[in-house]
Amino acid sequence: MMDKYQCCICGKTIDLNEEPNLSLVAIKHWLSTAENQKEQQLFCHEECLAKVLFDPKSLYLQYL
Ligand SMILES: [Zn+2]
Repeated sequence: MMDKYQCCICGKTIDLNEEPNLSLVAIKHWLSTAENQKEQQLFCHEECLAKVLFDPKSLYLQYL
């Protein structure tokens, strides 16, 4: 397991002792069958993600 994670939005290191660990999962060809899909995980600060969303309330993970 890596010990340093870089936020894909601001570029800063994510301090896992201070911040929730959050990642985005991008799925290419998501309409296709599972074997044709390509998946990538990107790490980010929850706050950075909320800032770049058109509607920050669409990030409801923080309320689950
Ligand atoms: Zn960030």
